[in-house]
Amino acid sequence: MARRPMMAANWKMNKTIREAQQYTAALLPRAADAEGVDVAVFVPFTCLHEVARMAEDTPVIAGAQNFYYEDSGAFTGEVSVPMLQDAGAGAGIVGHSERREIFAESDEMVARKTARAVEAGLLPIVCVGETKEERDAGDMWEKVSGQIRRVMEKLDDPDGDALVFAYEPIWAIGTGDTATPEDAQDAIGQIRDLLRELGGDDFAGAVRILYGGSVKPDNVAEIMAQEDVDGALVGGASLEVESFMQLVEAARETVPSDG
Ligand code: PEP
Repeated sequence: MARRPMMAANWKMNKTIREAQQYTAALLPRAADAEGVDVAVFVPFTCLHEVARMAEDTPVIAGAQNFYYEDSGAFTGEVSVPMLQDAGAGAGIVGHSERREIFAESDEMVARKTARAVEAGLLPIVCVGETKEERDAGDMWEKVSGQIRRVMEKLDDPDGDALVFAYEPIWAIGTGDTATPEDAQDAIGQIRDLLRELGGDDFAGAVRILYGGSVKPDNVAEIMAQEDVDGALVGGASLEVESFMQLVEAARETVPSDG
Protein backbone atom coordinates (compact mmCIF):
# COMPACT_ATOMS: atom_id res chain seq x y z
CA MET A 1 0.00 0.00 0.00
CA ALA A 2 1.44 3.41 -0.95
CA ARG A 3 1.66 5.71 2.03
CA ARG A 4 2.03 9.45 1.60
CA PRO A 5 5.48 10.49 2.85
CA MET A 6 5.74 13.14 5.53
CA MET A 7 8.61 15.51 6.21
CA ALA A 8 8.18 17.16 9.59
CA ALA A 9 10.19 20.06 11.04
CA ASN A 10 10.52 20.23 14.82
CA TRP A 11 11.79 23.69 15.70
CA LYS A 12 11.96 22.79 19.41
CA MET A 13 12.39 25.93 21.57
CA ASN A 14 13.63 28.13 18.74
CA LYS A 15 12.39 31.16 16.78
CA THR A 16 10.57 34.35 17.64
CA ILE A 17 7.33 35.25 15.89
CA ARG A 18 9.27 37.42 13.46
CA GLU A 19 11.71 34.61 12.65
CA ALA A 20 8.79 32.23 12.22
CA GLN A 21 7.17 34.65 9.76
CA GLN A 22 10.37 34.89 7.72
CA TYR A 23 10.81 31.12 7.66
CA THR A 24 7.18 30.46 6.71
CA ALA A 25 7.20 33.12 4.00
CA ALA A 26 10.27 31.45 2.46
CA LEU A 27 8.93 27.90 2.88
CA LEU A 28 5.41 28.26 1.47
CA PRO A 29 6.20 28.95 -2.18
CA ARG A 30 8.81 26.19 -2.26
CA ALA A 31 6.67 23.63 -0.44
CA ALA A 32 3.83 24.27 -2.90
CA ASP A 33 5.74 22.07 -5.39
CA ALA A 34 6.07 19.16 -2.98
CA GLU A 35 3.19 17.23 -4.46
CA GLY A 36 2.50 13.93 -2.81
CA VAL A 37 4.39 14.83 0.39
CA ASP A 38 2.93 16.08 3.67
CA VAL A 39 5.09 18.97 4.88
CA ALA A 40 4.56 19.82 8.55
CA VAL A 41 6.19 22.39 10.82
CA PHE A 42 5.99 21.92 14.58
CA VAL A 43 6.53 25.32 16.10
CA PRO A 44 6.52 26.90 19.58
CA PHE A 45 3.05 27.80 20.91
CA THR A 46 3.86 31.49 20.60
CA CYS A 47 4.29 31.20 16.82
CA LEU A 48 1.56 28.67 16.12
CA HIS A 49 -1.32 30.97 15.30
CA GLU A 50 0.79 33.09 13.00
CA VAL A 51 2.34 30.13 11.14
CA ALA A 52 -1.09 28.48 10.82
CA ARG A 53 -2.58 31.73 9.51
CA MET A 54 0.15 32.09 6.89
CA ALA A 55 -0.12 28.40 5.90
CA GLU A 56 -3.91 28.41 5.61
CA ASP A 57 -5.05 27.06 2.21
CA THR A 58 -1.53 25.80 1.46
CA PRO A 59 -0.31 22.19 1.66
CA VAL A 60 1.85 23.01 4.73
CA ILE A 61 0.50 21.72 8.05
CA ALA A 62 1.16 23.85 11.15
CA GLY A 63 1.55 21.84 14.33
CA ALA A 64 2.40 22.10 18.01
CA GLN A 65 5.16 20.28 19.86
CA ASN A 66 3.05 19.25 22.84
CA PHE A 67 -0.45 19.50 24.36
CA TYR A 68 -2.47 18.20 27.30
CA TYR A 69 -5.27 15.65 27.23
CA GLU A 70 -7.87 17.64 29.21
CA ASP A 71 -9.78 20.30 27.27
CA SER A 72 -9.78 23.06 29.91
CA GLY A 73 -9.43 23.65 33.63
CA ALA A 74 -6.87 24.12 36.36
CA PHE A 75 -3.78 22.91 34.48
CA THR A 76 -1.48 25.93 34.69
CA GLY A 77 0.91 26.17 31.78
CA GLU A 78 -0.81 23.57 29.64
CA VAL A 79 -2.49 23.93 26.25
CA SER A 80 -5.35 21.68 25.11
CA VAL A 81 -6.23 20.03 21.82
CA PRO A 82 -9.23 22.34 21.15
CA MET A 83 -6.99 25.33 21.87
CA LEU A 84 -4.48 24.11 19.29
CA GLN A 85 -7.25 23.60 16.75
CA ASP A 86 -8.56 27.07 17.52
CA ALA A 87 -5.08 28.41 16.76
CA GLY A 88 -5.11 26.60 13.40
CA ALA A 89 -3.02 23.51 14.19
CA GLY A 90 -3.61 20.36 12.18
CA ALA A 91 -1.16 18.17 14.05
CA GLY A 92 0.80 17.83 17.29
CA ILE A 93 3.90 15.97 18.43
CA VAL A 94 3.27 13.65 21.38
CA GLY A 95 5.84 12.11 23.69
CA HIS A 96 8.97 13.55 22.13
CA SER A 97 11.92 12.11 24.06
CA GLU A 98 12.75 15.59 25.37
CA ARG A 99 9.25 15.69 26.92
CA ARG A 100 9.63 12.19 28.29
CA GLU A 101 13.20 12.62 29.61
CA ILE A 102 13.29 16.27 30.75
CA PHE A 103 9.65 16.75 31.75
CA ALA A 104 8.99 13.20 32.98
CA GLU A 105 6.06 12.44 30.70
CA SER A 106 4.92 8.89 31.31
CA ASP A 107 3.73 6.33 28.77
CA GLU A 108 0.26 6.77 30.28
CA MET A 109 0.25 10.53 29.64
CA VAL A 110 1.47 10.03 26.10
CA ALA A 111 -1.26 7.46 25.48
CA ARG A 112 -3.97 9.74 26.87
CA LYS A 113 -2.76 12.69 24.82
CA THR A 114 -2.72 10.56 21.68
CA ALA A 115 -6.26 9.31 22.32
CA ARG A 116 -7.56 12.86 22.86
CA ALA A 117 -5.94 14.09 19.65
CA VAL A 118 -7.30 11.19 17.59
CA GLU A 119 -10.78 11.75 19.03
CA ALA A 120 -10.62 15.46 18.13
CA GLY A 121 -9.16 14.94 14.65
CA LEU A 122 -5.78 16.52 15.41
CA LEU A 123 -3.06 14.36 13.84
CA PRO A 124 -0.71 13.15 16.59
CA ILE A 125 2.92 12.31 15.76
CA VAL A 126 3.69 9.81 18.51
CA CYS A 127 7.40 9.53 19.30
CA VAL A 128 8.95 6.35 20.64
CA GLY A 129 12.58 5.35 21.12
CA GLU A 130 15.24 3.98 23.38
CA THR A 131 18.27 5.45 25.16
CA LYS A 132 21.82 4.38 24.42
CA GLU A 133 21.95 2.43 27.68
CA GLU A 134 18.74 0.58 26.82
CA ARG A 135 20.04 -0.25 23.36
CA ASP A 136 23.40 -1.44 24.68
CA ALA A 137 21.63 -3.59 27.26
CA GLY A 138 19.53 -5.25 24.53
CA ASP A 139 16.34 -3.62 25.85
CA MET A 140 15.48 -1.53 22.81
CA TRP A 141 12.47 -3.56 21.75
CA GLU A 142 11.07 -3.95 25.24
CA LYS A 143 11.11 -0.16 25.63
CA VAL A 144 9.74 0.70 22.19
CA SER A 145 7.09 -2.00 22.05
CA GLY A 146 5.93 -1.06 25.55
CA GLN A 147 5.50 2.58 24.50
CA ILE A 148 3.51 1.54 21.45
CA ARG A 149 1.32 -1.00 23.24
CA ARG A 150 0.36 1.61 25.81
CA VAL A 151 -0.80 4.00 23.06
CA MET A 152 -2.68 1.34 21.11
CA GLU A 153 -4.53 0.16 24.23
CA LYS A 154 -6.13 3.60 24.53
CA LEU A 155 -7.36 3.75 20.93
CA ASP A 156 -10.64 2.29 19.82
CA ASP A 157 -10.17 0.71 16.38
CA PRO A 158 -8.32 3.72 14.87
CA ASP A 159 -7.87 4.37 11.16
CA GLY A 160 -4.29 4.15 9.97
CA ASP A 161 -4.41 7.77 8.85
CA ALA A 162 -5.56 9.07 12.25
CA LEU A 163 -2.06 9.05 13.72
CA VAL A 164 1.61 8.85 12.81
CA PHE A 165 4.41 7.18 14.75
CA ALA A 166 8.01 8.43 14.82
CA TYR A 167 10.81 6.08 15.81
CA GLU A 168 13.46 8.32 17.32
CA PRO A 169 16.36 6.55 19.02
CA ILE A 170 17.29 9.00 21.78
CA TRP A 171 21.01 8.50 21.22
CA ALA A 172 20.60 9.79 17.65
CA ILE A 173 18.68 13.00 18.46
CA GLY A 174 20.73 16.14 18.08
CA THR A 175 23.96 14.15 18.30
CA GLY A 176 24.89 13.79 14.64
CA ASP A 177 24.99 10.07 15.43
CA THR A 178 22.28 8.78 13.12
CA ALA A 179 21.04 5.18 12.98
CA THR A 180 22.13 3.41 9.83
CA PRO A 181 19.38 3.15 7.22
CA GLU A 182 19.32 -0.61 7.94
CA ASP A 183 18.88 0.00 11.69
CA ALA A 184 16.04 2.42 10.94
CA GLN A 185 14.37 -0.12 8.64
CA ASP A 186 14.83 -2.96 11.15
CA ALA A 187 13.23 -0.99 13.97
CA ILE A 188 10.45 0.52 11.87
CA GLY A 189 9.69 -2.82 10.18
CA GLN A 190 9.37 -4.40 13.63
CA ILE A 191 7.11 -1.54 14.73
CA ARG A 192 4.88 -2.10 11.69
CA ASP A 193 4.66 -5.83 12.50
CA LEU A 194 3.61 -4.98 16.05
CA LEU A 195 1.01 -2.51 14.74
CA ARG A 196 -0.31 -5.27 12.47
CA GLU A 197 -0.71 -7.54 15.49
CA LEU A 198 -2.39 -4.77 17.52
CA GLY A 199 -4.41 -2.95 14.88
CA GLY A 200 -4.82 -5.35 11.95
CA ASP A 201 -3.55 -5.41 8.37
CA ASP A 202 -5.36 -2.31 7.10
CA PHE A 203 -4.19 -0.22 10.03
CA ALA A 204 -0.57 -1.36 9.75
CA GLY A 205 -0.57 -0.90 5.99
CA ALA A 206 -1.84 2.67 6.20
CA VAL A 207 -0.19 4.08 9.33
CA ARG A 208 2.87 6.19 8.67
CA ILE A 209 6.06 5.63 10.63
CA LEU A 210 8.75 8.30 10.48
CA TYR A 211 12.40 8.06 11.47
CA GLY A 212 13.97 10.82 13.56
CA GLY A 213 17.52 11.37 14.75
CA SER A 214 20.10 13.58 13.03
CA VAL A 215 18.45 13.38 9.60
CA LYS A 216 20.36 15.71 7.27
CA PRO A 217 20.46 16.46 3.55
CA ASP A 218 23.38 14.04 3.13
CA ASN A 219 21.72 11.00 4.75
CA VAL A 220 18.02 11.53 4.03
CA ALA A 221 17.87 9.73 0.67
CA GLU A 222 19.18 6.43 2.07
CA ILE A 223 16.81 6.63 5.02
CA MET A 224 13.80 7.48 2.83
CA ALA A 225 14.69 4.57 0.52
CA GLN A 226 13.87 2.04 3.26
CA GLU A 227 10.65 0.15 2.66
CA ASP A 228 8.90 0.92 5.95
CA VAL A 229 10.21 4.46 6.49
CA ASP A 230 7.49 6.95 5.53
CA GLY A 231 9.33 10.15 6.29
CA ALA A 232 11.32 11.95 8.94
CA LEU A 233 10.89 14.11 12.00
CA VAL A 234 13.76 16.56 11.93
CA GLY A 235 15.16 18.97 14.50
CA GLY A 236 18.48 20.65 13.67
CA ALA A 237 18.30 20.39 9.88
CA SER A 238 14.78 21.85 9.84
CA LEU A 239 15.74 25.20 11.32
CA GLU A 240 16.84 26.64 7.99
CA VAL A 241 14.40 26.57 5.06
CA GLU A 242 17.16 25.63 2.63
CA SER A 243 18.19 22.41 4.38
CA PHE A 244 14.59 21.51 5.30
CA MET A 245 13.57 21.89 1.65
CA GLN A 246 16.38 19.53 0.62
CA LEU A 247 14.77 16.96 2.91
CA VAL A 248 11.31 17.66 1.49
CA GLU A 249 12.71 17.24 -2.02
CA ALA A 250 14.27 13.89 -1.04
CA ALA A 251 10.84 12.77 0.18
CA ARG A 252 9.33 13.99 -3.10
CA GLU A 253 11.75 11.75 -5.01
CA THR A 254 10.16 8.70 -3.37
CA VAL A 255 6.68 9.55 -4.69
CA PRO A 256 5.76 7.59 -7.84
CA SER A 257 5.39 9.99 -10.76
CA ASP A 258 1.67 9.22 -11.09
CA GLY A 259 1.13 9.79 -7.37
C1 PEP B 1 13.90 15.75 16.84
O1 PEP B 1 13.86 16.83 17.38
O2 PEP B 1 12.90 15.02 16.87
C2 PEP B 1 15.14 15.34 16.16
C3 PEP B 1 15.15 14.18 15.55
O3 PEP B 1 16.19 16.20 16.23
P1 PEP B 1 17.54 16.15 15.31
O4 PEP B 1 17.08 16.02 13.88
O5 PEP B 1 18.23 17.44 15.60
O6 PEP B 1 18.31 14.94 15.75
